[in-house]
Amino acid sequence: MHLRRLALLTAAMLSTTAAIAATPVLVIHGGAGVIRSELSPEAQQAVRADLEAALAAGYAVLKEGGTSLDAVGKAIVILEDSPRFNAGKGAVFTHDGRNELDAAIMDGATLRAGAIAGVHRIKNPILLARAVMEKSPHVFMVGDGAEAFAQSVGIELVDPSYFRTEQRWQQLQEVLRKEAAGQQSSLGRMVHYGTVGAVALDAAGHLAAATSTGGMTNKRYGRVGDSPIIGAGTYANAQCAVSGTGWGEYYIRTVAAHDICARVAYAKQPLAKAADEVVMKLIPQLGGDGGAIALDAKGNIAMPFNTDGMYRGWVDKSGKVHVAIFKD
Ligand code: ASP
Repeated sequence: MHLRRLALLTAAMLSTTAAIAATPVLVIHGGAGVIRSELSPEAQQAVRADLEAALAAGYAVLKEGGTSLDAVGKAIVILEDSPRFNAGKGAVFTHDGRNELDAAIMDGATLRAGAIAGVHRIKNPILLARAVMEKSPHVFMVGDGAEAFAQSVGIELVDPSYFRTEQRWQQLQEVLRKEAAGQQSSLGRMVHYGTVGAVALDAAGHLAAATSTGGMTNKRYGRVGDSPIIGAGTYANAQCAVSGTGWGEYYIRTVAAHDICARVAYAKQPLAKAADEVVMKLIPQLGGDGGAIALDAKGNIAMPFNTDGMYRGWVDKSGKVHVAIFKD
């Protein structure tokens, strides 16, 4: 049989075995690592408004019968465009004072995925990740090659200065000062997380996951975190979708997003237990920190984090919108 037909048939089988009509659910995060004492009431208000706008845009897709893939993409673009999150505009700076962006998207029904890393000029990295998935034969493209591909498929490029915000620049200066004074390792706990992510379940019962980030403040040129690595920071299959945020090196080493879904599939763990085992036990045991959002095909949600706070929001099965930052 022709390879492409075989792939489509397999994809159709994968989706039909699990797809049961569902009530849509959308969950997003705006990154772990937020510290209560550093967040003014005004900043909190602004972040909440952005999270609500992202939820509204993503959920509108689901309500109209659109796909989970479209919904996560819509929500992420809004968060990338906001200067308040570490993705797109407002991304953190590398050690060399540049913004270097990573993103990934995955379709749970077909296991198709697209990812990009180390780009400097892509206005909305999540759109390029999706284009890699749909318009190239590849899954993961990096750096100049990814940007050349973006140009060839009409994805918007911007001058690198577009991503700069004064707050992120000052955060880098502070980390560099501490590093020079020997007070901080080059990458470490609480180095300005704020990645954005989304998971969704659509009316057809299909799941999707997406994550977009600037990485970690003071990362070295060429460092890639977990967010664009399928299975580490982003993963979706027919039963489970996950987007992670936190100290990426640990999410890569534990293959965190896939591990959560594997525990659900093979160990038959409930989603919340699976997510807790990875985020609240395994990652901290190794010395890492962060959080994750997870969603299963029944619409169950888990949002564990072992940091002070994690920006997050969700639209539950009844259509109610929730936004939260700290544990309470
Ligand atoms: N996980 C991201 C990274 O290590 C950072 C974050 O979640 O904010 O690149």
